[in-house]
Amino acid sequence: MSFRLKILGANSATPAYGRHQTSQLLQVENCYFLIDCGEGCQMQLMRYKERISKIQCIFISHLHGDHFYGLIGLLNTMSMGGRKQSLDLYGPPDLAEVITALLRCSRTVLSFHIHFHALSFREPVKIFENNLLTVTSIPMEHGTLCAGFLFREKPKPYRINKEFLPEDVTVPEILYLKEGKDLYDAEGKLRYRHSALTLPPRKIRSYAYCSDTRYQEKVIPHIQGVDLLYHEATFMQDQSARAASRFHSTTVDAATIAKKAAVGQLIVGHYSSRYKVLEPLLAEAKRIFPNTVLAIEGQDYLLEE
Ligand SMILES: [Zn+2]
Ligand SMILES: [Zn+2]
Repeated sequence: MSFRLKILGANSATPAYGRHQTSQLLQVENCYFLIDCGEGCQMQLMRYKERISKIQCIFISHLHGDHFYGLIGLLNTMSMGGRKQSLDLYGPPDLAEVITALLRCSRTVLSFHIHFHALSFREPVKIFENNLLTVTSIPMEHGTLCAGFLFREKPKPYRINKEFLPEDVTVPEILYLKEGKDLYDAEGKLRYRHSALTLPPRKIRSYAYCSDTRYQEKVIPHIQGVDLLYHEATFMQDQSARAASRFHSTTVDAATIAKKAAVGQLIVGHYSSRYKVLEPLLAEAKRIFPNTVLAIEGQDYLLEE
């Protein structure tokens, strides 16, 4: 089962050196989530042959332009394609007003319905749930209402070990085994222990998106032990004063959070346009958290089960 993150835009405020503003696509099996929607997002989706029609939910972290100026264009393209399926849109309360005004002024009536969900920014809140996973919003410290997002798979069933499965086990009993229950006969006598007939459940995978934010340790318990963390690293450490004053993080900030939260892997991104070459940012982060990689547009980051 796939758990795939595609970076569509990895830059901050303005495009630079071929890099676009922030957006990402997360695929978990047949669920497609768009995280932020910077300018050019739909062009990037087309460039990397991602099907726009498959996106079910869009999560907008905050209302700085580099995170949502691509949204109205994307919605328009969905509508031109005749989309009928409703879309769930999550973001700060003002986002609804912006979208409504743009549609009204351009006399656009979308072909589909938008369910708008206003985010809360005081504490972590579970904002989405289906049979596969949950999504939780996490407050960021960015000088404006801003949320990160945690995507976590739900507990998975035990796997039937077909090699050892006796013929007299019925279909309802198989469901019991998958729940980790032992099988008993009508007299209450143990027939089979589930541990003898099953393999452990597959791994629960998780991804946390922390952008934009200045260094904040209170995020750590909420992202503790995630497999994959994207944390903004707008600046290198020599610009730490600038980073703090603009409510952004440095490579060292991002790597320190990753280390303290004991995550599996760190992706740094949201690069300032002052950096043409990114390897020095990577090197600086790796000194603190070795399993760091750069956010590269068009690249897939996969989590194995
Ligand atoms: Zn930004
Ligand atoms: Zn911002």
